[in-house]
Amino acid sequence: MIGFRPAATGRIALLAAHCDDLAIGAGGTLLTLCSARPGLTVEALVLSGGGTAREDEERAALADFCPGAGLRLAVLKLPDGRLPAYWEEAKAAVEELRARVDPDLVFAPHRGDAHQDHRGLAKLVPTAFRDHQVLGYEIVKWDGDLGRPCAYQPLAPEVAEAKADLLERHYPSQHGRPWYDREVFLGLARLRGIECRARHAEAFHVGKLTFDLAGG
Ligand SMILES: [Zn+2]
Repeated sequence: MIGFRPAATGRIALLAAHCDDLAIGAGGTLLTLCSARPGLTVEALVLSGGGTAREDEERAALADFCPGAGLRLAVLKLPDGRLPAYWEEAKAAVEELRARVDPDLVFAPHRGDAHQDHRGLAKLVPTAFRDHQVLGYEIVKWDGDLGRPCAYQPLAPEVAEAKADLLERHYPSQHGRPWYDREVFLGLARLRGIECRARHAEAFHVGKLTFDLAGG
């Protein structure tokens, strides 16, 4: 496997349909990235949960998942589970983010996600971020849509544990959900670790990847 080590990662964009998606899908990667690159600019957009307790959870959580970063978070008020009916609003929000930010990396849901809100956002992202590397994070759910991602960020053991700790601490509104527990988070990270010869990892779907084999 080739290690992808972007030289200039000074700014990243995070997109999610719901509060907690980013933490579940990419929390360990965010901890790894932000710890290694103090001062990283993180521009985050979450489409739903604005004005509710879920927004408060998300703000506190992302602050801890992005230590030392310059974090800017917008949480909109689109209804949960209704993204197709609010397509124009979602598209405008994604385009507005793109107009403000030219990120080195983009984290977003992936097209194979069975949740219609996740899948809808995944389709919108490349319409606005056309010249960017997009990493599609995965979220365990009832639908059983875990696929075969091809890109991995290995996680140090303490990072995998810290991710599980922060998910437990910051999202009490989700504690009754059957997919929301430490065993799930660490279990998937352990499985993805096996696939990339690490103890733990987060995995991402990549739609396109351009090489520069000449280097220089
Ligand atoms: Zn979600």
